[in-house]
Amino acid sequence: MTLEAASAFHLDMSHLALVNEVSAMVLAETSSERVFARVVERISEFFDLAAVAVYSGDPLTLQLQCGGIPAPVGSPVPDGLAHLALHRGELVTSADFGGNGSALQLPWTTGAMRSEAAVPLLFHDQRVGVLHLFSDREAALDQASINTLSTLARLLVVSTVQERWVKEEALSQKHHRAYERLHEFAAFKDQILQNISHELRTPLTLAKGYVELVNTGQMGDVVPEQEQTLQIVLGKIDEIVAIIDRTVSLSALNSLSLEYSCIPVADLLNEALLLIESRAAASSIQLDLRPIGPELCLQGDREQLGRACFNILDNSVKFSPSGGRVTVEAKAEAAYVHMVFRDEGIGIPQQQLAQIFDTFYQVDGSSTRRFGGLGLGLAVVSRVVRAHKGKVWAESEVDRGSAIHMLLPRE
Ligand code: ADP
Repeated sequence: MTLEAASAFHLDMSHLALVNEVSAMVLAETSSERVFARVVERISEFFDLAAVAVYSGDPLTLQLQCGGIPAPVGSPVPDGLAHLALHRGELVTSADFGGNGSALQLPWTTGAMRSEAAVPLLFHDQRVGVLHLFSDREAALDQASINTLSTLARLLVVSTVQERWVKEEALSQKHHRAYERLHEFAAFKDQILQNISHELRTPLTLAKGYVELVNTGQMGDVVPEQEQTLQIVLGKIDEIVAIIDRTVSLSALNSLSLEYSCIPVADLLNEALLLIESRAAASSIQLDLRPIGPELCLQGDREQLGRACFNILDNSVKFSPSGGRVTVEAKAEAAYVHMVFRDEGIGIPQQQLAQIFDTFYQVDGSSTRRFGGLGLGLAVVSRVVRAHKGKVWAESEVDRGSAIHMLLPRE
C-alpha cells in the first residue's frame, strides 16, 4: 500500500515514512481511540500545525474523539469547514475560500489561525469521521501534504472500521455463547420437567389404583354415594394427569423430532373426533365432519398432528353451549391442506385472537375454574404446526362462535 501511495501521490521520503508509521500503528492497534491520539500528535508535529482534531462515531452523530482543541471530548462537529468537507465528501482547505473563512475566528486560539483544512473519513458512502486541522501560517499545507493527509485519513477509516468489526465480532460471539447457554438451559429445564412429571405421576397412579380397588368393592362393600364420590376422585386424578402430560408435552415439543409419514386427512380427523365423541355427546353437541376424499393426504407426524386436532376440538366442544354443533372440514389449497374447525360457542374477542396461541393464555382468567384447561392446548397446536412449517390462526365473533384454521403442507 505504501508503495502504491508513493507512486500515486509522489510523496517524498519523510511523508512516506509518516504513512508507513501510521499504517503500522493501525495494523498493530485495535483501539481507534489510541490510534487517533497518536496520529493527531504525529500530524501536529509533522506538519507543524496549531491544532488537529478527530471526530468519529455514528455517521449521524460524529463526536470529537481527541485533538489539541479545548472543546470537550464528545463535542459535535463544529459548523464551518469540517461540516463542508463532510457535506462535499472531499478534503477542503480555507485556501479554497481565499484563506479568510469565518471559521478561522476561533475563540480558543491565542494567535490568529491563518489556515484550516478538513478531511472527511469516508468508508464507501458512509461518513465515519472527519479530521480537522488548524495552522497559524497561511496556506500551511502544500499539495504533497494534502495528498499525505488524504492517505492518513484513509488509514484512520481502516482503524475506525476495524474496531467496529472487532466489536461486532465480539458481540456475535457473545450472542452465540448466550444462545448456546440458552439451549443448554432449555434442555436442563425440559429434563427437570420430565423428572417432576414422573415424580407427580407415580403417586397419582398409586392413588388411582387404591381408589379403583375400593371402588370395585375389593376392600369391602361400597354404598352408591361412596361409589359416586370415588368416581369423582378418579375423574379429578385423570384431570391432573392430563394437565401434567400437557405441560410436559409442551416442553418436549421444544426438542420435537417429527416422524413423517403420509397421513390421509380423513383418518386423522376421524381419529381425533372419536376421542372427543363421548364428551360432545354428554353436552348434546353434534360433531359434523364434512366429506373428505380419501386421496387428500398430509406429510407429517401422525401422533403430533392428531394431538393438535384433538386440542382444537377439545376447545370447540368445551366452549360450545349444550346442543351446539362443531363442524370440521378440510380441502386441498395449492400445496397445502386447509382444515377448519368451527363451533357455535362463546367466541373470542378480536383483540385476543392472536394471543390464544400463547403459552398459558386464557381469554377469561376464570376459564380454568369454569371450563378446565390451563391455556396450553393451543400453544401445543401452534408449536406442532410451526414444526410442520404450517400456519394456524383463529377467526371469531363473540357469542356467535369461532373457527380455527390450520394450513399444513401436503408434501
Ligand atoms: P385451555 O386449555 O385453557 O383451553 P388453550 O390454549 O386450548 O387453553 O386455549 C386458550 C384460550 O383460548 C382458552 O382458554 C379460551 O379462552 C380461548 N379459546 C380457544 N379456543 C376457543 C374456542 N373454540 N372458543 C372460545 N374460546 C376459545
